[in-house]
Amino acid sequence: AAEQARAAADQPAFTRDETRIEVAANAADADDAAAAVAAGADGIGLLRTEFAFLGRPAMPDEDEQTALYEAAATALGGRPLVIRTLDAGADKPLPYLAMPAEENPFLGVRGLRLGLARRELLRTQLRAIVRTATAHENIKVMFPMVATVDEVRTARRMVDEACAHVGGTPRDGFEVGIMVEVPAAALLSVQLAHVVDFFSLGTNDLTQYTLAAERGNAALAQLADGLHPALLRLVHEVCHAARANGRWVGVCGELAADPVAVPLLVGLGVRELSVAAPSVAAVKAAVRQLDLEDAAALAHAALAADSAAAVRDLVVSDRDLPG
Ligand code: PEP
Ligand code: MG
Repeated sequence: AAEQARAAADQPAFTRDETRIEVAANAADADDAAAAVAAGADGIGLLRTEFAFLGRPAMPDEDEQTALYEAAATALGGRPLVIRTLDAGADKPLPYLAMPAEENPFLGVRGLRLGLARRELLRTQLRAIVRTATAHENIKVMFPMVATVDEVRTARRMVDEACAHVGGTPRDGFEVGIMVEVPAAALLSVQLAHVVDFFSLGTNDLTQYTLAAERGNAALAQLADGLHPALLRLVHEVCHAARANGRWVGVCGELAADPVAVPLLVGLGVRELSVAAPSVAAVKAAVRQLDLEDAAALAHAALAADSAAAVRDLVVSDRDLPG
């Protein structure tokens, strides 16, 4: 039976009505990418590149970064690799980057904001990513902590500049997307859909910012629940805007691995779930149970619920899941 489950994990996951849901893994480096493939992941939906930047005396240069990203791409053998640009900030300080202290680092100069404030950082990283994309198929670049359309326009221009600088054309499957982690980005997803190729919902931060409940604060753990209908409504908004514009939507926050969340996310229109490698097999198994129409009906009922607990009860009783 264990062998059967293993073999199933290596196969793509389709709903009962034959819709492919990509089940990818989150990773920090090439070793993680190899482990993800071994666990059956269809790709990497979130490469957290902070590993290359933190805990060292100087910023990694373009060659160094290119080697790291290429190693991850090689481990994936052509499977999609979504490389997130540096997501550092005042709570994840870089020793070689003098940044003023902030009273509220989670509301501060972080993610893409930092990349745009310190262009050299983002410029170098984008050149390394584009170089990787000219050597490997299915490389995608993704910007964290987006709040406005202008930020994305500027960042996209920097991708174009990186392409011009590197020379050579990115291979097939090169795409530019954003994380949806700030409520403003979800609410403006119609406008953002015109300037991105895909959205990936970072539900860890999106939950924190939507409920104004810091993600690491144990006293608020119950409040910071990704199943809150306020969150689901934002997911719905993004999926709707994406579908109307032919963009795809993934989820790379921890919510993607929650068996209660999977039917809701897929029902709302999410087509890629990126989870910790050990969860890939279980998420694929959950996807294979789904009927898209049923999942959509369940998700729409959840949008009308008045609490995360009510959403959970709804799904658990509908799906016969352990409560
Ligand atoms: C998220 O915010 O959901 C996410 C995936 O990014 P990180 O956990 O790295 O902030
Ligand atoms: Mg985040």
